[in-house]
Amino acid sequence: MTIPLRTTEPTIVDVALGQRSYDIVIGRGVLASLGAGISKLRPGARVAIVTDETVARHHLDAAEASLKAADIAASRIVVPEGEASKSYATLQEVCEGLIAARIERRDLVVALGGGVIGDLAGFAASIVRRGLDYVQVPTTLLSQVDSSVGGKTAIDSPQGKNLVGAFHQPVLVVADTAALDTLSLREFRAGYAEVAKYGLLGDRGFFAWLEANWRDVFAGGPAREHAIATSCRAKAVIVARDEKETGDRALLNLGHTFGHAFEAAAGFSGALLHGEAVALGMALAFEFSVRQGLIADDEARRAIRHLADVGLPTRVADLTGEVPTIDRLMGLIAQDKKVQRGALTFILVRAIGESFVAPGVDPAAVRTFLTEKLAGQ
Ligand code: NAD
Ligand code: MG
Repeated sequence: MTIPLRTTEPTIVDVALGQRSYDIVIGRGVLASLGAGISKLRPGARVAIVTDETVARHHLDAAEASLKAADIAASRIVVPEGEASKSYATLQEVCEGLIAARIERRDLVVALGGGVIGDLAGFAASIVRRGLDYVQVPTTLLSQVDSSVGGKTAIDSPQGKNLVGAFHQPVLVVADTAALDTLSLREFRAGYAEVAKYGLLGDRGFFAWLEANWRDVFAGGPAREHAIATSCRAKAVIVARDEKETGDRALLNLGHTFGHAFEAAAGFSGALLHGEAVALGMALAFEFSVRQGLIADDEARRAIRHLADVGLPTRVADLTGEVPTIDRLMGLIAQDKKVQRGALTFILVRAIGESFVAPGVDPAAVRTFLTEKLAGQ
């Protein structure tokens, strides 16, 4: 007996951005519908798939088969995996590859992979021939709930991450939740930090649902689709309100100011994944909010307990690498993108599901708090 590839009807989340609106198609097995989706959207278009070596090994055949079944001519550009591919050199390789594949204005770039591929291929698409359309096929949990939604694309500069890029919205996102079955538990868990973030920043009911259902999200049951769809919807609503991040899109940075500092201190290495840093950062944001008298201690404990239950780091003591010094951390926090003329902006919380942008946070209070945390208090 053959097990049907698709077990449920896909969920469609609409990202409402006027002329730049697009659908996120979410479901187990939806990669098989990629070709049909593209034919419908752009009949006669050619396609170039940009992917990394690991994702190619697991999912490129299925993507190509789906395009072939829809009579779509497809070429492939395979780059090494990892953050190092968000570089000028790899960007050049991808741009030249797209030109060599004769991808023209009415054609499409398909970004098949995690956030690295989405950011790299999306940015290449934004500049080749002054702008090509692209489709995101995210294959990590992090990219399905975060980087494939919202249109931020970038490569890294030697001076910092994501410093060279563009806002460029995809025309379609196809998120196959079964693609996550081949992802390592550690990568899945790191992506889960961003899922929990949507509950913590603005949806108390979703957070309670996650507390009850996270095991099924990890196991790949129907809860996984629900968690991803709810996360995409949450991000889509915020992005639709503030596409270019001039206001409350910053709420999506809950846990990211503290988190980025630890991530940067670890050198953006495998020692601390982004989602792990965000989990620690969110725990610190809740504790700092307690310290500021904004939220009850037991409420903050509840938030932190869930992150710890799924196995994410929530204390400095959970870090495996070298612990950074307070001066290094404060230096990194001072470089945060939300800093305006020296004043620190944090995303703080009044309750689970009630976050807000707090400008003008006193750096001395942050230093005292973090010094204690580094000392293991
Ligand atoms: P990633 O793309 O490096 O993927 C992580 C690892 O998993 C890689 O080794 C990859 O080869 C592998 N992989 C991917 N899919 C797989 C699968 N289905 N099975 C097995 N292995 C698989 O990293 P990521 O965590 O997806 O994304 C991180 C990047 O996303 C960072 O560069 C970050 O800056 C960016 N990002 C962008 C945005 C945005 O809004 N544009 C938001 C968040 C993060
Ligand atoms: Mg993030």
